[in-house]
Amino acid sequence: MKETTSLLNRLFDSGILFSTGIDGLYGRSGVFEDVIARFDALVTAFGGEDKAEVVRFPPAMNRAHFERSGYLKSFPQLAGTVHSFCGDDHGHAQLMECLAAGEDWTGQQKATDVVLTPAACYPLYPLIANRGVLKPEGALFDLQSYCFRHEPSVEPTRMQLFRMREYVRAGTPDQVVAFRADWLERGGKLIEMLELPFHVDVANDPFFGRAGRMMKNNQRDQGLKFELLVPVNSTEAPTACLSFNYHQDHFGRTWGIETADGAVAHTACVGFGLERVAIALFRHHGTDVQSWPSAVRKVLWG
Ligand code: AMP
Ligand code: ZN
Repeated sequence: MKETTSLLNRLFDSGILFSTGIDGLYGRSGVFEDVIARFDALVTAFGGEDKAEVVRFPPAMNRAHFERSGYLKSFPQLAGTVHSFCGDDHGHAQLMECLAAGEDWTGQQKATDVVLTPAACYPLYPLIANRGVLKPEGALFDLQSYCFRHEPSVEPTRMQLFRMREYVRAGTPDQVVAFRADWLERGGKLIEMLELPFHVDVANDPFFGRAGRMMKNNQRDQGLKFELLVPVNSTEAPTACLSFNYHQDHFGRTWGIETADGAVAHTACVGFGLERVAIALFRHHGTDVQSWPSAVRKVLWG
């Protein structure tokens, strides 16, 4: 059996995750949620001194904002849109007939004004823009959200719905680059404390199609994305557990965000894949949290 499916089965068998019959869509146990909460608190312990403004959005966002963000240009294959039945009584009867006959019943579903959040920071940029020009010190936010990506997989670390904790910085290029450098260092320290093997490497996002190939190369050549990788499913293809993204002026331009001196703002974000870190911990320290290394237990539970 492949290591990926055996790890997923181990997580099911030990009651840490629950199957729903859909790859990448799982129920979480109390133990799993406790590990997530403890790790989330550890991130806060590392980032708390920066006094980021806490903002929490539901796991869905304004479709108009999503359209403007450019997500569909880069990642149409991952997007999740929310559709609803918008017909009348006649349409309802048709829907029920199709359902009973086992036929496609979705023909009358229409796109609503809501889409699923693809990354925790996407709903934030319009909020920043709405507040007007940035202060001279720029802005810093603390986010956490369930995110959706249509990438069904039996690798337990590749989910369709998962949580991302993020810090997002907006400001001058210098401010933003310094933020990312800080977190590259902190991220390594944090994962070291959890006694997980890791390395940091330059990376790219899964830009779609032929045009996407150029975007991937460009992102790598400019060192715009780094990932902290932990071997989880396999050692040949380690799993990105933390990401450090420098968007340059992409979101600043898209949303008209300005620095105090009137330039287009730059942004960066650091993202923590909460489920990925939790699964990495179960994979390396075992499915029984009581028998995790005492130093790791102390870091998480005090
Ligand atoms: P990204 O925006 O792709 O850099 O994602 C930010 C972080 O979210 C990554 O570093 C991962 O830890 C996590 N992540 C991304 N995709 C998934 C997924 N399909 N399942 C679970 N976690 C994910
Ligand atoms: Zn982000």
